[in-house]
Amino acid sequence: MTSKCRFHPERDAVVVCNKHEHGYCQECIDRCSACSDPELYCRHRTYCVIWELCRKIVKARKAAAAG
Ligand SMILES: [Zn+2]
Repeated sequence: MTSKCRFHPERDAVVVCNKHEHGYCQECIDRCSACSDPELYCRHRTYCVIWELCRKIVKARKAAAAG
């Protein structure tokens, strides 16, 4: 089974969210649009590939917004 990107249906997904079961392409990961609710608790987070790739971007964004 091959998943497609949630936002780019013409592209194959490189990761799939365990929580929402949405697929995402590389570009969506790079732009951090892959995790639909990075601020909320997610029980899959400890082994979530999306979160692992996305958390640094979220952190940088927060730091930028704060100061
Ligand atoms: Zn995409």
